[in-house]
Amino acid sequence: MSQTVTQWQNQAAVKDRLSRPLRDLRISVIDRCNYRCPYCMPAELYDNHKFLPRGHWLTPGEIKRVASVFLQLGVRKLRLTGGEPLLRRDIVDIVAGLAELNGADDIAITTNGSRLAEHAAALKQAGLSRVTVSLDSLDPDVFKAMNGGRGEVSAVLAGIDAARKAGFPIKLNTVVERGKNDHTLLDLVDHFRGTGVIVRFIEFMDVGTVNGWQPQQVVPSKELLERLRARWALSPVDGNYRGEVAKRYAFDDGQGEIGFISSVSEPFCGNCNRARLSADGTVYTCLFASSGADLRGPLRSGASDSDLVGLLQNIWRNRMDRYSEIRGRLLEHKPEGTEKSERVEMYRMGG
Ligand code: SAM
Ligand code: SF4
Ligand code: SF4
Repeated sequence: MSQTVTQWQNQAAVKDRLSRPLRDLRISVIDRCNYRCPYCMPAELYDNHKFLPRGHWLTPGEIKRVASVFLQLGVRKLRLTGGEPLLRRDIVDIVAGLAELNGADDIAITTNGSRLAEHAAALKQAGLSRVTVSLDSLDPDVFKAMNGGRGEVSAVLAGIDAARKAGFPIKLNTVVERGKNDHTLLDLVDHFRGTGVIVRFIEFMDVGTVNGWQPQQVVPSKELLERLRARWALSPVDGNYRGEVAKRYAFDDGQGEIGFISSVSEPFCGNCNRARLSADGTVYTCLFASSGADLRGPLRSGASDSDLVGLLQNIWRNRMDRYSEIRGRLLEHKPEGTEKSERVEMYRMGG
């Protein structure tokens, strides 16, 4: 018998070994991308890379089914990501499928924005709730240095505009790399201040194995906040919910807010309630995981919903991940960088 919305909402979330509930599912729908951001998918390694064959991607129906199982376990927020999710030709079908499910408070997407202008209205109509656009600089040269020389700032700005016109709440993700884009961030804030678009700065992270991360490339959020405060008066805003990763600050003159995601300088593993599903149906319980659990196999060989619930419950109940909290200690012993030969790349598991 199908459950009512109230039954779904009252359902307790499964908890991991550190008592963290499962609340958030990031669904990577594709591992390919039209950008080559050096911090994620450097061109020299990925221009001839063999990405997943299309037949390995979960179909819109399979994504919907897996999401419905996660919703039964307590998930309330769904986010589509990748790779670049708007490269999937059936992205609108994927959103429409998820929008039919009971229990999700929110369906969001993270995109590089290059194809957002053409898709924004259809995504809104399909039931998408929110959009996060990644944009590292408004300076055309710095923009290209941050994304491997692809695309145009103007296309991303047109995408943001189209998303606003379609009625989406919009946030920006801005990765901050010392000496590369940090001199252009005041301009970025200035541009979006007062528009309702919330800029969130993300500390450059040591995800995956190929981005050559060095601790000195990170601009700690506190340092960036001080630089911004030299220009604008900003006051902290309380978090919206447990597990919110961004620390928020509002402009005292009422012109909106900005956020900081400080995974390196202020890890937030204690509240981490996220699972990740890759395009080929592998489930990961941490962004820094070296392996995951296959769901596509069971899905395609006739597993029932209760089989899938049992499998995922087991995975989450055994979860102990807290990599970012441990990273600080690892760096004390090996300051040139952390051990990473085994990590799954972020574009594969979904950022
Ligand atoms: N292609 C889409 C995009 O760029 O928005 C979605 C996937 S991308 C992997 C998701 C987010 O991860 C983006 O906002 C991106 O900037 C961020 N990201 C990728 N590599 C990162 C790194 N090394 N450190 C911090 N953030 C990173
Ligand atoms: Fe593509 Fe996003 Fe990775 Fe950049 S961060 S290469 S846009 S998947
Ligand atoms: Fe969550 Fe892993 Fe990131 Fe910690 S390091 S916040 S456990 S994804």
